[in-house]
Amino acid sequence: MKERKALLIHAVDKSLIISEQPPFPFPVLGITTLAALFPENWEIEVIDEDVDLVDLNSEPDLIGISSLTLNIPHAYDIADHFRKKGIPVIMGGLHVSSLPHEALYHCDSVVIGEVEPVFDEILKDFENKKLKKIYKAKNFFDLKNVPIARRDLLKPIHHKHLTSVQATRGCPNNCEFCSVTPFFGHRYRFRPVEAVIKEIEMLLDMGMSRTIFFVDDNIAENEHYAEKLFKALIPLKIRWGSFASVRLAKNFKLLDLAVKSGCLELFIGFESLEQSNLEIASKNFVKVKEFPEIIDRFRSNGIMVQSAFIFGHDNDTKDIFKKTVDFVQRTGIDTPTFGILTPYPGTALRDRLIKEGRLIDTKGEWHKYDGSYALFQPKNMSVEELQQGYFWAKKYCCAPRSIIFRLLRRPNKNFFLAMLVNFSMRANKMKQIKQRWKKRPLVAPS
Ligand code: SF4
Repeated sequence: MKERKALLIHAVDKSLIISEQPPFPFPVLGITTLAALFPENWEIEVIDEDVDLVDLNSEPDLIGISSLTLNIPHAYDIADHFRKKGIPVIMGGLHVSSLPHEALYHCDSVVIGEVEPVFDEILKDFENKKLKKIYKAKNFFDLKNVPIARRDLLKPIHHKHLTSVQATRGCPNNCEFCSVTPFFGHRYRFRPVEAVIKEIEMLLDMGMSRTIFFVDDNIAENEHYAEKLFKALIPLKIRWGSFASVRLAKNFKLLDLAVKSGCLELFIGFESLEQSNLEIASKNFVKVKEFPEIIDRFRSNGIMVQSAFIFGHDNDTKDIFKKTVDFVQRTGIDTPTFGILTPYPGTALRDRLIKEGRLIDTKGEWHKYDGSYALFQPKNMSVEELQQGYFWAKKYCCAPRSIIFRLLRRPNKNFFLAMLVNFSMRANKMKQIKQRWKKRPLVAPS
């Protein structure tokens, strides 16, 4: 008999057009891992708004909400609604961890950083009706103790294409624009490889997809750990993808193990073709002159490269858009993604732009923090030129002719899959451009 009920919500504002996302629901791991922390006498309902609606008439005992910055206005609306009904609301995640006092206008408690170390305290305070406003762990969570996520609480559609798993948390680097290190601290932590393998074996036994996405921020940054993990993955005969840095391509042994263990696609943050921009962003360990060889090395080993290039860095001039598009087309990157440098709350970039008086006051329009809006005054072009150049680059690279030309230029064994991914993501990209850029024609700033 369940005595209590918690409703855990992954808040997603479906009215927003997000163009750089996979065309199928992602099996969220945050709220399902949180669900696994509750004791047996709790009934847990998990709602991922990407595929499901929150029942606003429901009357759980406790609400937990996590949300990215772009969805936070919507998340606050949900929080306000349930709070009006007298139901305690607790929020967590990157945005509220950076701006807890903003969130406290809408919820009873905010969890800053990881929830696991403070979970027992929260539950005890809830039972005693003494929830604190802020919970913040004194120490980092030992990943040995990560519970197995309650994936059974998600919809079957979540498991159709992908299974998500986490092996590491955080990143040893500290790029100026990135929220990972401010959130997880300057610590790179690993789950024991044996625990990761055991979890994947269990998921495969349950009939879940053999395509695994590791939600790690930077899966191979510790080469010793990555080597052990990749070796252990080989017998499982899975296909996997994750986020990684260019360093993986430089270690031939590790790259070989990644291939043998089933690595299918890596999301690589190249960020800029101007080395001086990478220096400013504290990402100087990435060398622009090595990019073509690195891309070639991944692709010739059968690993699809999803690249991230960001526009609006301080040393970007108006020719950066064409230069980047030419590079992407020439090197045959499988799935190029572009973004505008975005001053997310909690990042060193935001602090610097505020200090320099360059941040544009968006008056709480957090939905603009999706990487597609120019939210600050660039150094060497106007805000409009940055916005236009971004849309132009995106439109150019997702045009059918560009996709076919790019993939045919350097075809590899993933040719058809890359084609499918590009065309399935194209519709949303074009929808966003048409909705947001009314001026015609759309040309590169020059
Ligand atoms: S390497 Fe990637 S994950 Fe790590 S701090 Fe830089 S951008 Fe963030």
